[in-house]
Order: sequence, then C-alpha cells, then structure tokens
Amino acid sequence: MSGNDTNAIEVRDAVKRYGDFTALKQISLSIRDNEFFTLLGPSGCGKTTLLRMIAGFEDVTEGEIFLYGDEIENLPPNKRPVNTVFQNYALFPHLTILDNVAFGLEMRGSSKSEARARAGEMLELVQLSQFAARKPSQLSGGQQQRVALARALAPRPKVLLLDEPLSALDLKLRKAMQLELKHLQRETGITFIFVTHDQEEALTMSDRIAVMSAGELQQLGAPTDIYERPRNMFVADFIGETNLLEVSVDKIESGRAVCHLGGGHELTCDAVDGIGVGSKVHMSIRPERLYMSNEPEKDGSLHGRVKENIFIGTDISTIVELDDAPDFVVRTSNSDRGNKRIFEPGTDMFVNMEKGAARLLID
Ligand code: ATP
Repeated sequence: MSGNDTNAIEVRDAVKRYGDFTALKQISLSIRDNEFFTLLGPSGCGKTTLLRMIAGFEDVTEGEIFLYGDEIENLPPNKRPVNTVFQNYALFPHLTILDNVAFGLEMRGSSKSEARARAGEMLELVQLSQFAARKPSQLSGGQQQRVALARALAPRPKVLLLDEPLSALDLKLRKAMQLELKHLQRETGITFIFVTHDQEEALTMSDRIAVMSAGELQQLGAPTDIYERPRNMFVADFIGETNLLEVSVDKIESGRAVCHLGGGHELTCDAVDGIGVGSKVHMSIRPERLYMSNEPEKDGSLHGRVKENIFIGTDISTIVELDDAPDFVVRTSNSDRGNKRIFEPGTDMFVNMEKGAARLLID
C-alpha cells in the first residue's frame, strides 16, 4: 500500500507496545510538506516514541508510516531522509565547531573539502561562522544547540526531528531560540517535527500541533484552533489557563445550548455535536474572555465578589467567589485597565463573558 505523497509523513493506525504496555494506541496523523509540526503532551504520553518510530530507532508494533508516499518501516535509520536534533547536543568535544558539522557529511561519503564547504554554509545559516575554529566547550548552551542544528541540517534531510531541543536552555535564551528555529524552518523549507511538553512553546512556533495524552491523539489543529476551540477536557485544561465548570444542558435551540450551573445560574453557548439535552458536561471559559462590572451587562452575567488580585506582570489575575458556584479566574491585561475595571478584594460585582467565550467540552 502507498501513502499520500503530498504529505511529508503519514502515520496510519500506528501502535507501539513494550511487552504488555501500550505506549501508543492507534495513532493516525498526517504531517504536511514544509510544515512546522509539534507533538505536544505531558511526560510519558508517547511523543518521543512516535518521533523515534519516524526516525527508525523504534519499530512499529502495528500500523504503517509513510515518508513522501513511501513506506519506510523496513528502512534502517541511516537510510531515511530524516535527521534528529536531541536535547543534549552530543557534540564531539575534541573537534572544532566546523569539524563537528563536517564530520557527519564525511561519514556519508562527502570529500573533506565538500564537507567543509557545506559545514561553512551551515554555520553561516545559524550565524556562527565567527566561531568555526572554537571547540564546543568555548560556546554557550544556545550556541552549542545551534551547532547541533547546523550539523543535523547539513546532509539536507527532508524532515528534521527535534526532541525537546531547547529544554536545557534558560527561559530567555529558549524564547530567542524558539523564534530562530521558526525562521530557520521557513528559510530552509524543511519539514520540522518538534517534540515538547511546553504548551506555550508549541503555540509560539507551530503551524499545527498534535496534542497527545496517554498514547492517544487528543486534538490536531492550528494553535488558534487548539487554544480557542479545545475539543475535550484534557486539551482545555492542558493548553493555557481556563475556568472549567460542571454544567447540565437543559435545552438546545438553533445551534445554541442553554445550560445551568449547580447554583442555578444559566449560561448559553454554541451547541457541540455529541452533547445532547440532559448531558452533564464541562464548560471551558478562558479568563481573558471575562470582564467585571458593577451591574450585570449580559444575560449570563454571574454575581460574585473579589477574593484576590494577583499581579502577574502583563496581566492581573482576579480570583472571584461566585454565588453557589466554584471560584472563577478573570484576567485583565494591564493595557486594558483604562477600559476594564479592577475591583478591590471584598467588592461585590458581576462577571460578564465576551461573545463566544464559553465552550462545551466532550469529557
Ligand atoms: P517525556 O516527555 O517524559 O520524554 P514522552 O511523551 O516522550 O515523555 P515516551 O518516552 O514516548 O514519552 O514514553 C511513552 C511511554 O512508554 C512511557 O510510559 C514510557 O515509560 C514507556 N516506554 C518508553 N520506552 C520504553 C521502553 N523501551 N520499554 C518500556 N516502556 C517504555
């Protein structure tokens, strides 16, 4: 059987078992050519296992993996047009930066002069030409990771696999490298498959994200889809901060679901396929889609009082105690403070929702 050759990678019903333990449960997904694709999930969800199966370091227990339309299951790792960047850069300490990048090319049959010329081009790409003669120990962590990237890109792989490559770097450097990696992907046109457990990193860098948990694919989509329209409880909770409320669905009319909270509060939101009248499900409302006022401003405004304001730099996070309902978090951007109100702790107020803020979740 052949795959769809417009995709860089196609994973069909892939299962991975280690003895009795199933690390991946029938995963199917396609990764497009020239895409920055991220596998995102908590520790142990199986993202590294899937990456290693694509690289050829792990065999596939059941299912198939295609690379540009060809099945690759029987190809050894060094015959796949794929290269990997690991978290620990694994540079040779006794070789110069230039020789570290050239080494793999020579191993693959390039002449010394060809390999050095290509290594020079790659160091230029990652802006390290001036350090070509240094040894790895004379570079910072971020610079070493850029050498590892140059080395992995040098043999012109069709697909670059990146296994948490930034996790050893401090926060500021990690953020700078996130942008650099994204630019590098655009510049080279190579398909990048990036593994991380950091949702912010995934949202910042990716064209599309596959959210995984416990060996299963939970949702696949662009960062805005995943953030604005989480499919289920796991995704809503894992990506960003959200208010999760238990609600009962009383009525569905013209695509809108009328729900009530424990204390009798009524809330209306878009209906979702698979959630019918009588269902007890969760509703997700992002804190930044809420605002506070003295008087109710919407049909679904909720009465409560401010418990605490927490200053978090760009935003203020307000914990609100609602009448007969769990506490709510409301986020107000500092730049919005002219338009939106912040109340002192203990003040009675109403929480209002922006249109489309509430979303029903499949559990
Ligand atoms: P992390 O972010 O911690 O690396 P991950 O999502 O990449 O996590 P995997 O490394 O893919 O997770 O592991 C998925 C599951 O498979 C884990 O429960 C792990 O313990 C298990 N596992 C991985 N490799 C093996 C192995 N060789 N033998 C047995 N179980 C394994």
